[in-house]
Amino acid sequence: MHGFVIRGSRGTLPTCGADFLRYGGDTTCFSLETEEGLLVIDTGTGLRHVTQELADRADLPPITVLLTHLHMDHLIGLPSFTPLYSSHAQIRFMADPNREGSWKNALRAFMRKPYWPIGLNEADANLEFDSLPEAEPSMTIYGVTVTWCAIPHPQQCVAYRLESPECSVVIATDVEFTPGAIPDDFVAFCRGARHLIFDAHFTPAEIAHYKGWGHSTWEVGVELAKAADIARLVLTHHSPKRRDAEVDAVVETARASFPAVDGAYTNMVLD
Ligand SMILES: [Zn+2]
Ligand SMILES: [Zn+2]
Repeated sequence: MHGFVIRGSRGTLPTCGADFLRYGGDTTCFSLETEEGLLVIDTGTGLRHVTQELADRADLPPITVLLTHLHMDHLIGLPSFTPLYSSHAQIRFMADPNREGSWKNALRAFMRKPYWPIGLNEADANLEFDSLPEAEPSMTIYGVTVTWCAIPHPQQCVAYRLESPECSVVIATDVEFTPGAIPDDFVAFCRGARHLIFDAHFTPAEIAHYKGWGHSTWEVGVELAKAADIARLVLTHHSPKRRDAEVDAVVETARASFPAVDGAYTNMVLD
């Protein structure tokens, strides 16, 4: 599907059940397909929706996977991504070069025996592993301008901004900012984007007990959206315990401060 699609909006752990149907239980994944190729950001269980759409195609597009970080909820869909097992597939992985240790080795360690029957090294696809460019953190991939910056989270995380004629979005999930203390350079990074997808894992009532866990609240998202002139704020990384009605309540509360707020849900299209 062309355009930017949220494939999974759940944080930490996939969920299922009658109380989780509207926002969905799949963990973090986003896709943006253009005429030139397919960008995937993170490979949580939401990646299965991309897999399913590609299964109906005669030819695979070239694929670039941008990773925000390597926490398991953002990787767990990868072993089931069937293009890995096609010798016709071209898949490039990109991640932050400034992580502790090698992200390439960590990714291979995540997908190998005995945790999965086929190691990433044994996959049939043509794989490339490229670190994100450091000196000039901006690149053009499949006609999309991609910029990135580091954001605070245990083991560090990366925010991405994607700009093309049909898409203007900042993905800032797995990030811990304190209200009133969002760094100016991050506000500048987000400035003027149409959509801001932001980590609202915790509520303002909960966050006091979870300092240092690496997540934020709708309150911080609203503060950032206002400061950076964002048109629409999309809250994501919903806690696995947060039922649909409770996410609704979070969104409603946030709308009192910033009307253009939505809760991210599986296969939500941002246009
Ligand atoms: Zn996460
Ligand atoms: Zn994380």
